[in-house]
Amino acid sequence: NDALARAESLIGVIPDYPSPGILFRDITPMLADAAALRACIGALVEPFAGRFDVVAGIEARGFLLAGAVAAAAGVGLVPIRKAGKLPRPAVSVDYALEYGTATIEAHDDLPEGCRVLLLDDVLATGGTLAAAQRLVGRLGCVVAGSAVLLELDGLGGRALAGDDVHTLFHA
Ligand code: 5GP
Repeated sequence: NDALARAESLIGVIPDYPSPGILFRDITPMLADAAALRACIGALVEPFAGRFDVVAGIEARGFLLAGAVAAAAGVGLVPIRKAGKLPRPAVSVDYALEYGTATIEAHDDLPEGCRVLLLDDVLATGGTLAAAQRLVGRLGCVVAGSAVLLELDGLGGRALAGDDVHTLFHA
């Protein structure tokens, strides 16, 4: 698929961002390209077509994908946010980072049993996606699937986030 290959080539690699020694994958050139973005949105959702009720994007870059996927699939969108950003009662899940912990939250008002497709840009250690999966369960909902643009192989993300994560590209 030409458009997907092009999309992959548009994901940048930025050395020493946000701190020395980190190799940051930058999806913004892919997002800025109409054909690449459309191909990625279609490929992210393709295995799950008709099998989810809502998409949930993980802050912050997951939001960029979730809006496009929701509009394309004709479903609604739920933001999964970092702690303290949501205005109404929310469910929280804590998870471990390399140094310290982080918390993600979602509003506690999804219908019981709602099938949620989780979206993020990058799968690294898997901690974020695994926490989002737990959060969906705590909301009384069901994970319909987890999809990312790019999986960083060698970090073992699938051990935490599950072997069925749908990944478009590997690095
Ligand atoms: P994990 O929890 O799997 O270790 O990290 C994944 C989270 O960190 C995702 O929300 C993702 O947006 C962010 N992340 C980690 N590394 C990168 C990277 O190189 N590029 C981008 N764009 N996001 C990253």
